[in-house]
Amino acid sequence: MSAPLKRPSPNFGPRRDGLRPSLVVLHYTGMDSVEAALERLCDPCAQVSAHYLICPAGRLWQLVDEAQRAWHAGAGAWQGMQDINSRSIGVELANDGETPFPDPQIRVLERLLAQIMARWQITPADVIGHSDMAPMRKDDPGPRFDWRRLALQGLAVWPEGMGPDLPLTDSLDRIGYPPADADKRLHAFRARFRPWACGAGQAQPREGAQDRRRASAVAAGFDRAREVPSA
Ligand SMILES: [Zn+2]
Repeated sequence: MSAPLKRPSPNFGPRRDGLRPSLVVLHYTGMDSVEAALERLCDPCAQVSAHYLICPAGRLWQLVDEAQRAWHAGAGAWQGMQDINSRSIGVELANDGETPFPDPQIRVLERLLAQIMARWQITPADVIGHSDMAPMRKDDPGPRFDWRRLALQGLAVWPEGMGPDLPLTDSLDRIGYPPADADKRLHAFRARFRPWACGAGQAQPREGAQDRRRASAVAAGFDRAREVPSA
């Protein structure tokens, strides 16, 4: 991967309370063009940014230094942690939310993630989507994003299969989802871990045993992934 192209954004500040990056948050831009996304992420009036933007063809832009606090995550929480901006590195994928993510874009993401995770000792369990930490207001990176592909390379958590039929709320809390409207949490959970339940005509409004069993398997997978061996 060649060095990122630089397009400095003014939309950042210092990380608070001496926090270091311990999470990576993945986004899609939700915009039609890369140029429009770059402009918005660098517009002082927009007050938003990210550390990186990856174009569909695989071009990588760096907008904010990793040591700084980029403004990409906003209100939300993960595993009870607030101020996700101070704790994370934000990666935007130029995508309108409808189109599949092209392979060259994901290959660059994979190489970038591996580097970020090595630099900051970030584990696969700590690579999350924007909708994971903000299920009440965000849908990205959406059900088209292939988390399983990342997990196969040790870049995210994707437990296979189903677990026991346990209360959904407990499993979602255990995974790390913040308190939110139950439908919104279910929607965010399905988008990431049951994307096949998100297709047109398949949307089930209410939770079912398949959601509960999938969530308990995912929660157990996160538990395993977070058992960091004490070296
Ligand atoms: Zn986002």
